[in-house]
Amino acid sequence: MNTDPDTAPTDRNRPSVIGLTEADLRLFCREHGFKEFHGSQVFHWVYVLGGKRFDEMTDVPASLRETLAASFVISPLTLKEQVESKNHDAVKYRFSLSDGLSIESVALQNAGTRPSFCISSQVGCPVGCLFCATAGMGLLRNLTSSEIVAQVVELSRLHTRPRSILYMGMGEPLLNMENLTASLRLFEEIDLSCKRITVSTCGVVPGIIHLADSGERPRLAVSLGSADEERRKTLIPLAARWPLERLGTAIAYYREKTKRRVSIEYTLIRGINDSKEDAVALARFAGRFFCHVNLIRYNRVDAYDYKPPDTKTTERFKSLLLEKKITVSERYRKGADIQAACGQLVTQKSG
Ligand code: SF4
Repeated sequence: MNTDPDTAPTDRNRPSVIGLTEADLRLFCREHGFKEFHGSQVFHWVYVLGGKRFDEMTDVPASLRETLAASFVISPLTLKEQVESKNHDAVKYRFSLSDGLSIESVALQNAGTRPSFCISSQVGCPVGCLFCATAGMGLLRNLTSSEIVAQVVELSRLHTRPRSILYMGMGEPLLNMENLTASLRLFEEIDLSCKRITVSTCGVVPGIIHLADSGERPRLAVSLGSADEERRKTLIPLAARWPLERLGTAIAYYREKTKRRVSIEYTLIRGINDSKEDAVALARFAGRFFCHVNLIRYNRVDAYDYKPPDTKTTERFKSLLLEKKITVSERYRKGADIQAACGQLVTQKSG
């Protein structure tokens, strides 16, 4: 648990260093009468070495360390809780924010290589997907770019630098565009390139266009719910604003603009979207817009009665997609036993 006075954001008047760019820190040094290059040293300490205290930064002048400590905290997050899955393939972390709200982030272990970090972009979520635990919280607020980036810095300290970053935790990143793009730029600065970053969306069409035009080029994953218009509206209420045709056009624009493949994340729910007709509709949509399909068997959430399909139904669904020449993979449900899998993150109940 983070009880370090330099990193625990107990003083709300002090912003955190995490979230500042190298140029910001160089400017801070210059404006406070220090050589600019010390700003680059502080940047390296915070983002690369994962420094937790200003007084660890022994290669910068003591007076600068004092000035920094009087002006900033290091991280906007305080680690409150962590729980590891039984087979050690996922660790879920709960962090509190300086206003007392909290978020969850997950480190997913990958065999023989570095982990993936699944991070949150909002406290709660306004989208209201019928199958998702986070939806029950509603939207409490957007995370700042500092709070988004800090999840990766904190998890890197606890594990190692990630192989990939997934914006698939709490929230709809494309409804927090300014902080999403600022965090992507900062990741780029610390050598976590967009090639290794996936942004997941429920299909926020203006956000997809904006991201395509932003100059950042993360992978895009669209959580579709269903390729049947009416069923999709029921499963993902916000999706009603952007019909499938508009979503497809936005996906095509994203591909064209960024040259990145777009994947469809499809959560299979027993008796809801796992029929032959559902597979045919999905194949038609994915084929038309050249999308890879990731199938995810539903992760149970206590609050809901939904169930995942059995293995036979899942295999039949997958075969139908393959017959239609759709590239498809099934995402293994890491962390389901600790409520850390897709759609299971929650920190506050609504009401
Ligand atoms: S699945 Fe994603 S977009 Fe839908 S409610 Fe949950 S967090 Fe929000």
